[in-house]
Amino acid sequence: MPDPYGAFIPPAKPHIGEEEIEAAVAVLRSGMVVQGPEVAAFEDEFSAVSGTDHCVAVNSGTSALHLSLLAMGIGPGDEVIVPSFSFAASANAVRLVGADPVFADIEAGSFCIDPAHVEALIGPKTAAIMPVHLYGHPADMTRLTAIAERHGLAILEDACQAHGAAVDGRPVGSFGKAGTFSFYPTKNMHSLEGGIVSTDDAQFARTLRLLRNQGMEQRYANEIVGMNMRMTDVSAAIGRVQLRSLGTWTDQRRANAARLDAGIKTVAVPPVAPGAHHIYHQYTVRVEGDRDGALEQLKAAGVGSAVYYPTPIHRLRPFAHIEADLPVTDRAAAEVLSIPVHPSLSESDLDRVIDAVNALEV
Ligand SMILES: *Cc1c(COP(=O)(O)O)cnc(C)c1O
Repeated sequence: MPDPYGAFIPPAKPHIGEEEIEAAVAVLRSGMVVQGPEVAAFEDEFSAVSGTDHCVAVNSGTSALHLSLLAMGIGPGDEVIVPSFSFAASANAVRLVGADPVFADIEAGSFCIDPAHVEALIGPKTAAIMPVHLYGHPADMTRLTAIAERHGLAILEDACQAHGAAVDGRPVGSFGKAGTFSFYPTKNMHSLEGGIVSTDDAQFARTLRLLRNQGMEQRYANEIVGMNMRMTDVSAAIGRVQLRSLGTWTDQRRANAARLDAGIKTVAVPPVAPGAHHIYHQYTVRVEGDRDGALEQLKAAGVGSAVYYPTPIHRLRPFAHIEADLPVTDRAAAEVLSIPVHPSLSESDLDRVIDAVNALEV
């Protein structure tokens, strides 16, 4: 069907504006390009989003997860309970420190890890629980925190999709021992590549700072074995510019989601749990029928959509040997479809998305 109104509506639209470009150029001209004043300021400013005393910037969200697990002392012989319905980075980080992921199912409504299943999976090797705030909807931190306390376990929050999401007004990234955020271009804010770890524990933050920089605080006085996971000041400067718009962009995403909620009649729109502040990194519907056909029909109508994630982690080759029976996850992987909700959508774009979804034949 020809598109009578305008161009193809992309499922995500990373923003790189003049301010970002100028901030990057200013850093390049300054000559202080790696883990300098911009990184320090970005860490300080992002603490307001995570609601924690400390933030430690690194070169990606995956690095943030990896370093957090190392700093928690998790390694061979340990198990970490993770959802299978997530981006592979969540489980990759567990394997990279030599520990074993144990896959929990999700709740059908929030798409986030199911606390009851988490508790059933806890055993003598369990070292930590890693909830993922998928699509920007917070996991049930009230129940997960109670379970972790009852069993003496640490929580590491994968908040890579959830900048500013909250439960009963408390921001994600502030519930666990640590939280991790990604600044990849398609996330709600970006720094080209980048990530941050949030924590209230000063000693833990110091360990992270050592680990990201070869184990050094003072040059050539290496205290522990570490890596190079530093953020550049170019990234931090771009992140600082983006951070100034995060609140406005989140409001716009939430307003767009409300429009979609009200307009869509043909498929199940994403429910929001009581007390949850959803920041709509993705707006994800369920298509009970020919989901992949729906994706093609939307494309033909000029509306970009995407499936996050078509294959749950426990069915990916590196993890397929791990025993897991996850019916809610399998069903979600077969039904989910994320449609545009990003802040660049115009009123007429939103109408086109709604009309295209309501015209689906599945
Ligand atoms: C994006 C993402 C990551 C990894 O972040 P990168 O910055 O791409 O390394 C980890 N977990 C989840 C859930 C993500 O969406």
